[in-house]
Amino acid sequence: MSAGRWLDAGVVGAADAVAAGAVTAEALVGEALGRLRSDPHNAVLHVDGEAALEAAQQVDAARAAGEALGPLAGVPVALKDNLCQRGTPTTCASRLLEGWVAPYDAHVVERLRAAGAMLVAKTNMDEFAMGSSNETSAFGPVKNPWDPARAPGGSSGGSAAAVAARLVPGALGSDTGGSVRQPAAFCGLFALKPTYGRVSRYGLVAFASSLDQVGPFARSARDGARLFAAIAGRDGRDATSADAPSADWEGACARGVEGLRVGVPRALLEGASAGVRARIDAALEALKDAGATLVDVTLPHAKHGVSVYYLVAPAEASSNLARFDGVRYGLRVEEGGGLDAMYEATRARFGPEVKRRILLGTYALSAGYYDAYYLRAQKVRTLIRRDYDAAFEACDVVATPTAPTVAFPLGERTDDPLTMYLSDVYTLPASLAGLPAISTPAGLSEGLPTGLQLVGRAFDEATLFAAAGALEKAFGPLPSPVPAGPGEHAGEEGAS
Ligand code: GLN
Repeated sequence: MSAGRWLDAGVVGAADAVAAGAVTAEALVGEALGRLRSDPHNAVLHVDGEAALEAAQQVDAARAAGEALGPLAGVPVALKDNLCQRGTPTTCASRLLEGWVAPYDAHVVERLRAAGAMLVAKTNMDEFAMGSSNETSAFGPVKNPWDPARAPGGSSGGSAAAVAARLVPGALGSDTGGSVRQPAAFCGLFALKPTYGRVSRYGLVAFASSLDQVGPFARSARDGARLFAAIAGRDGRDATSADAPSADWEGACARGVEGLRVGVPRALLEGASAGVRARIDAALEALKDAGATLVDVTLPHAKHGVSVYYLVAPAEASSNLARFDGVRYGLRVEEGGGLDAMYEATRARFGPEVKRRILLGTYALSAGYYDAYYLRAQKVRTLIRRDYDAAFEACDVVATPTAPTVAFPLGERTDDPLTMYLSDVYTLPASLAGLPAISTPAGLSEGLPTGLQLVGRAFDEATLFAAAGALEKAFGPLPSPVPAGPGEHAGEEGAS
């Protein structure tokens, strides 16, 4: 079988094939590099060929020597370009960080390396992770592999498109208000936003520190679980990193949903398009058929999620992005005129969405407005969290669509920030509450993917994996948006 077929076998399939000697890590990486370099969707910002091939040779040598291999040994994985990888450009898709090379590894990157993963590429994203469509990238929008005229979602759209287009079997993104879940829904993938604190933020370029979490993208829940197990866990370098016990997340995918209580906030579902609603109803029916019970719940404050998030996140961003002033990181624009002029000229290179967030956040935090906006938003944030606490007395997971529509056309919302922000209406409440949430495919509507979002209790990712596994079993895999094994590139040599 060719390396291309093994690359298409997913995270677990590729890892098993390397472990069994059916394909070499070098052949798999060679095939991934060929695909990543062709990249018709602008999903990739940087390909790390040499280092990845060297790492692959080390895996192959370790196997030949009979050494134990890690759970991701030989598996090519792509990283959103806001994760620091030593010796590799980390741009956050911003002119401000163009040319900046990370001097250290993020915690999740250390963990992926330790598990044997092959770090092959950095992916395109919305600038500093601010956006819902990948159109705020300074390096051009990402195209959705299901329809290149549509957005892949954002802000981790490059990671989502790379996995959907089968350039790599798995990728990492970051999720502050929906940035792994919404692109997963738009691209027909599984993604998890872990419980806040479950995954270390060390080495993730900060957007809104009380919300940011790193999460996996994959074509199945089990593949996502393998990636999640590699990156989850306590890290002393992130003060909010939790010491929570791990679980057999991969095993959970086959556990089924017998007895699971799925909470459905009916009133919220009204906000979705008819096509999305039909798929969510079908997904809920499928969970019921598999043994779950549906219960009505209410989240009375969830409707304030957009207002709260767009105060809290910009406030934190305005403070976090103050460090990009031309002195220490990336770009420094000197046009004469001293220090203040240098700051001004440098920071003028932020894109319009980033500038908007910095202005909004600075305003919300300014003396005189702090109590009226920021503090108030924090109070409503607590009410949103309490809604979930109450709901979880009656149910084990809360189900909604991940996004109100299927992937929208590129350009449709770029002139209207408010409409863009409203695409996050379903994902923001779980972010504000710090709870784990997945998006899992709920079938196609007019040929485009839809996603079911499930939110769980803090640190109960296992139940989310169980539900996603059950739904995959009921629905079967989605068709691929690209031909299987697109253009068998390099890597054939090592194939068996
Ligand atoms: N779309 C949201 C925003 O623009 C969420 C982004 C994210 O999760 N990084 O802020």
